[in-house]
Amino acid sequence: MKAEIIAVGTELLMGQISNTNAQFIAEQLNELGISHYIQTVIGDNPERLIQVTKQAEKRSDIIIYTGGIGPTRDDLTKETLAQYLDEPLAIDEEAWQSIQASFKGRIMVDSNKKMALAFTHGTTLPNHSGQAIGSIIEKGKHKYIILPGPPSEMRPMFMQYVRDYLLEESETKVIKSRFLRFFGIGESLLADKLDDLTIQDNPTVATYASDYINMVRVTASGNHLVEVTDLLETAVKQIKSRVGEYLFAEGKEMTPADALKNYLVDTNQTIGFSESLTGGLASATLVNVPGASKVLAGSIVAYSSQIKHQILGIPQEILDTDGMVSEPCAKAMAESALEKLDTDVAISFTGVAGPGKMEGHKPGTVYVGYAFRHKPTEVIKYQLTGNREAVRKRIIYTAFLHITN
Ligand code: ATP
Ligand code: MG
Repeated sequence: MKAEIIAVGTELLMGQISNTNAQFIAEQLNELGISHYIQTVIGDNPERLIQVTKQAEKRSDIIIYTGGIGPTRDDLTKETLAQYLDEPLAIDEEAWQSIQASFKGRIMVDSNKKMALAFTHGTTLPNHSGQAIGSIIEKGKHKYIILPGPPSEMRPMFMQYVRDYLLEESETKVIKSRFLRFFGIGESLLADKLDDLTIQDNPTVATYASDYINMVRVTASGNHLVEVTDLLETAVKQIKSRVGEYLFAEGKEMTPADALKNYLVDTNQTIGFSESLTGGLASATLVNVPGASKVLAGSIVAYSSQIKHQILGIPQEILDTDGMVSEPCAKAMAESALEKLDTDVAISFTGVAGPGKMEGHKPGTVYVGYAFRHKPTEVIKYQLTGNREAVRKRIIYTAFLHITN
């Protein structure tokens, strides 16, 4: 079974918005074990919609459209396909009632009615997050799936109705994925270590990077859950034996900040920061995690040399002789935060984000101080690469995971 995606919308074609719908659907197809080789983007234009549909029919069994089912004049996906497939459309009364109800008190124009158009011989996909209904229509050996453009409507509709429909089309009965999250190993090195696994068919192993985290997705398919679980477990064991030291979490969502928060909750500890290089980003990153207030006392942002002295009490001698980017400064910063914020752990960040040098240090040179209530302070010097954002984010993730390890 092969599928392809046609995204309809002039804004997409012009580059005004990114085609995140195709990205989402592609990921789903992958998980469902449905082959998918081609994606198309076209503007709001009926002739070209028919033209690309004809091409897609030669290559694929399932054609998935997104966009162009709203109320405006340029929204023509359903009407165009109805004409091309010679399949009648009619108003779905239930959908029309609910559109009318949603306009309660507001002026409604006639064109809204077309959002309730459904294929007489097709299946209606209700839209619980908007108004325009989606459709599945089967004709000959092809299946045409028509979805809304706004991701907030398309995604829930896909998850609720299309996924199960496609799962039935898929040759295998059970498909499961596991996600492993790595930090501290480059994407290319990770891919290289797993090279032989990424070319196998079942399970499939794919690596990808996002926000400085490297992800590995392992997807297995088969006819029985036990068989699929075994395939996954074997692959995950192989992966862990090769790059397990860089693994910090399993699952799709967990960030280094989640890992830090969980660790601190589990060990009943509090944390504080003293931030120069990171300018408050370390605490902001931790605050992103729900429940951070249980573990985070606060952060002292001390950027200039003067504030480091006045607020954190870093001895002038350290600032004058060793400099701000130095081991003694990182140590004093961490210990000062530990004392002033009265926490179990305190982390300090001082270094050079770039692009220029500072105090003679190359961009990416960072000292991180780790102060603890019950053990001696540790300072580690790191040499990172990347732009200012990359240096900051990487050092924050590095420090968070250093605490949890
Ligand atoms: P509407 O009822 O909003 O008119 P529609 O189904 O007709 O919905 P479009 O008019 O094509 O869809 O697009 C509406 C909005 O949805 C776009 O302005 C854009 O923000 C978003 N959108 C459309 N297609 C995509 C896509 N492929 N990826 C991400 N966003 C998209
Ligand atoms: Mg529209």
